Amino acid sequence: MKLSLFGEKFSRDSGIVGLMDDLGSALDDNPEMIMMGGGNPGRLPGAEALFQSRLEAIMADPEKRHKLFGLYQAPLGDPEFRREVADLLARQFGWKLSADNIAISNGSQSAFFVLFNMFAGKMPDGTRRQIHLPLTPEYLGYADSGLGEDFFTATRPEIERLDGHLFKYRVDFSRLELEKRAGAMCFSRPTNPTGNVMTDDEVARLDSIAREQDIPLILDGAYGLPFPNIIFTGASPHWNENTILVLSLSKLGLPGVRTGIIIAREDIIHAYANANGIVNLACGNIGPAIATELFRTGEILTLARDQIAPFYRQRAAEAVDGFRQALEGLPFHIHKPEGAFFLWLWFEGLPINSQELYARLKKRGVLIVPGHHCFFGLKEEWPHRYECIRVSYVQDPQQVRRGIRIIAEEVKKAYL
Ligand code: PLP
Repeated sequence: MKLSLFGEKFSRDSGIVGLMDDLGSALDDNPEMIMMGGGNPGRLPGAEALFQSRLEAIMADPEKRHKLFGLYQAPLGDPEFRREVADLLARQFGWKLSADNIAISNGSQSAFFVLFNMFAGKMPDGTRRQIHLPLTPEYLGYADSGLGEDFFTATRPEIERLDGHLFKYRVDFSRLELEKRAGAMCFSRPTNPTGNVMTDDEVARLDSIAREQDIPLILDGAYGLPFPNIIFTGASPHWNENTILVLSLSKLGLPGVRTGIIIAREDIIHAYANANGIVNLACGNIGPAIATELFRTGEILTLARDQIAPFYRQRAAEAVDGFRQALEGLPFHIHKPEGAFFLWLWFEGLPINSQELYARLKKRGVLIVPGHHCFFGLKEEWPHRYECIRVSYVQDPQQVRRGIRIIAEEVKKAYL
């Protein structure tokens, strides 16, 4: 069997596939494994009850049930859902939106695949363009999404050291020389893997650089604004005609329904929908069916504000306390947890690299994400990239405490 270049590239083991495999098989291999690696959201009874009641209401109505199971929607997604999304965002934030500015995807992951390849890769004039990440480390799930090779460029951030073993990455505008080859800029806010939330000022400056370059700013709000609002710091939602805001229902507690939402200028939405039609034909109906009423009533925002954000804020504080105690005396730094549900730990001068630490922890029954994968696109060598790990703190608190203890033991051993 001979594979095409596409076949070779997309069938090889990639960082994201390896990670998802690990997540999937780790529990089979070791039922006691402490899962601090994955992107699954925590379980919130209030949110689960709300989703269940929405689904039950749909199932009790034969017409709605038929729309849920028996119909293909257009490649753009259910018009009623798109209208409710646009209305809510226009009402809340004054953004000039109609249903024509909204498209649905089967999870935001697939939207990034289409969008990235729409703006980067081989251009009609034969030149190549890349997706520029203005602040690395970034979401590992982007890393292999380009149809071509060498698809990303990235800017190394400034490190601001803060009290209490904390630090924060900031966009280094002096380094951010956006190459002419960039086809779009992209960042997640809050950032997976670090929990960083780019400031409003940083977003505004990136927005103006993107406009000057006549390229879109792709803003990944999977954890962010306006929902699921897993943000513990002041930050304003951002959208304008040059921004492609990509949202998701996953981190609200619905990763299994696979629903992403793209908010962009009409011509971009139109182009996206054509591509989505080829790849997916149509999107799944369950996410829009569950969420339409929540958008109509605005409940999606209160759910995020009153239940989701406080849950993760509390968990983040507990995890930081746990690590501060367990790592006492070691040269450790924690990225200031401003959002999402990971802690990003930096072990300065770590004598082993993050891959080795990951392997040792896996042997000890704790799954984390080694940080070096998340610096894709960065061309220069930077030892820092091998000194970081990502740890999720959403699982059962007792398990998390055990995980923290084991991580600290292994880190201590590594420094001995
Ligand atoms: N963006 C970020 C930053 C993520 O962490 C994830 C998943 O973990 C995604 C996008 C993709 O999420 P989904 O495809 O479930 O919408």
